[in-house]
Amino acid sequence: MPVQAIAAPTPDEPRVGRWSWGHPLAEVAARHCQSHATPLPLLIGGTACGACWERSIRDDEEFRLAVGLPRELDTDPSYVDWVAVEQAVNGREVPLTKVERHEVRRRLGELARRRNIARRYICAVSAVTR
Ligand SMILES: [Zn+2]
Repeated sequence: MPVQAIAAPTPDEPRVGRWSWGHPLAEVAARHCQSHATPLPLLIGGTACGACWERSIRDDEEFRLAVGLPRELDTDPSYVDWVAVEQAVNGREVPLTKVERHEVRRRLGELARRRNIARRYICAVSAVTR
């Protein structure tokens, strides 16, 4: 039994549909569309005209078939985006997986441990020089 229903958009709500900037091929379709002048109202989802959307989708499908990629890609749960981890360690808010959050905590703990070692060493040196 469904516990949540998606309500139809109200007439004054902006249309954010499937064919908008959130689509993985939106930038490709928009690039195709830059080669000809399409009036803004004719752009689907504010990105590209119908012909350019169709071209980018067909090209993507042809490429997928040519190299033998599956239609849906399985994500590896153990995959770690090291760039995102590095950014998170440097204080930037980035979306992370559970494994990546664990790595960030481990690195931050390592940094804190190193800092504490340095302070202890400095204290020991200053105590000796007195
Ligand atoms: Zn176009």
